[in-house]
Amino acid sequence: MLYINGTWRQAQSGETLTVYNPATGKELAEVASGGRIETKEAIDAANEAFTHWKNTTGLERSTLLRKTAELIRENGEDIAQTITKEMGKSITEARREIISGANYVEWFAEEAKRIYGETIPAPQKDKHLMLMNEPIGVAAAITPWNFPLSMITRKITPALAAGCTVILKPAPNTPLTAIKLFECLDKSGFPAGVANLVIGPAEEIGKEFTTNPIVRKLAFTGSTNIGKKLMKDSAATVKKVSMELGGHAPFVVFEDADIDEAVAGAISTKFVNSGQTCICTNRIYVADEIADEFSTKFAQKANKLKVGNGLEEETKIGPLVNAQALEKVSRHVEDAKKHGGNVLCGGETLDLPGMNGFFYKPTVINEATEDMQIATEETFGPVVPIFSFQTEDEVISKANDTNYGLAAYCYTKDLSRGLRMTRQLEYGIVGINDPAPIAVQSPFGGVKESGIGKEGGRQGMEEYLEKKFISIKY
Ligand code: ADP
Repeated sequence: MLYINGTWRQAQSGETLTVYNPATGKELAEVASGGRIETKEAIDAANEAFTHWKNTTGLERSTLLRKTAELIRENGEDIAQTITKEMGKSITEARREIISGANYVEWFAEEAKRIYGETIPAPQKDKHLMLMNEPIGVAAAITPWNFPLSMITRKITPALAAGCTVILKPAPNTPLTAIKLFECLDKSGFPAGVANLVIGPAEEIGKEFTTNPIVRKLAFTGSTNIGKKLMKDSAATVKKVSMELGGHAPFVVFEDADIDEAVAGAISTKFVNSGQTCICTNRIYVADEIADEFSTKFAQKANKLKVGNGLEEETKIGPLVNAQALEKVSRHVEDAKKHGGNVLCGGETLDLPGMNGFFYKPTVINEATEDMQIATEETFGPVVPIFSFQTEDEVISKANDTNYGLAAYCYTKDLSRGLRMTRQLEYGIVGINDPAPIAVQSPFGGVKESGIGKEGGRQGMEEYLEKKFISIKY
């Protein structure tokens, strides 16, 4: 169902799209699929609602958002099961996403009350200078399937907290989680038109978002190529954009690192969400003298991760999202083998009885070289190459040798080296001995072709606010 101007409805054309479970290959649901007409209606409704929503107090907006956070938690198990069914991740990880999704809503509910202005010292006696923060206007958001709940809450809840009205387009394969979130928003009592949901053909909806002059802000998470296209299309109406695009995270292990901690950290950053996150480790660089020990321990652990249907409690690695994802992973592994890579574990698809899903075994490849596809392209799967290095300068230059700049990880017991690495790594997020450098309190975002803008933290609100300068002569 679409949710436009406070009403649940079908598309005018009656068209629907089918949602499948990637673990079983079975159909899950049919949902309404709207296009340009519905998107335009949603934008108009958001525009109308903005006239009063922008004048609500932060406290009013905060109260509604807190209610939404509560409802997400109350319905947590149901939403978690929906996440696992429509995109495959393990139920344990889906439950974690409920917690982080609700925490984002709560964080921005709090921030809604703290939108301050500024007084600026004037250069002359008869002037008073001020800066006011105002909501930017109607905001559109386009989200991917890998975190079907938290990617949405990171965008639409700071928008709502700031006083913007929103239209969301979720990924076509994960609309069910988005619908459940909008049920929570609906029950929270947001006025009609303040939050709208359109599901349907990406290009058509995207075109309306980017060309309609009413939309003042576009927030996107997805592939770099689509992000570039959306930026280009948004240029004609000079929209503010925030882009969370691809990544190619290096994971650097120095000879003085705690090897077991580094192995555990690499396992979690590589295999979370079956390797389908933009901050997943893509390249592991290990100091020469410990490369064999690290690789052996890492491959042993990776090999033990249970692959299966995410709904089974003991599953650690669910299926990949679709056939193209499985094809890409297989292609990267075959290419790595051709270029002399040594497969320490995995390296093949997995057929599970009674299931028709996109399963791939956790795969570790050492003796990796720069000419492998996997060394530069984002794999988005449970596969990782291990490179060895000799000097700090060498590994810095290799780690930075990419157009991406989202997340980087570094393991060392030497804090000075950790600080040097932090300053040298051209990434928006750096984890030193920390495999999970992400929190609702902190800004998430990349540099270079990994994106523009931040999500989360106080900076996440700024994406939806404009600064108005006021000069009063008296
Ligand atoms: P992925 O390969 O991870 O699915 P995409 O960038 O293709 O990444 O998709 C991320 C989001 O962008 C999804 O919601 C998708 O439907 C949407 N999308 C894809 N192509 C376009 C487009 N041309 N215009 C607007 N949105 C798009």
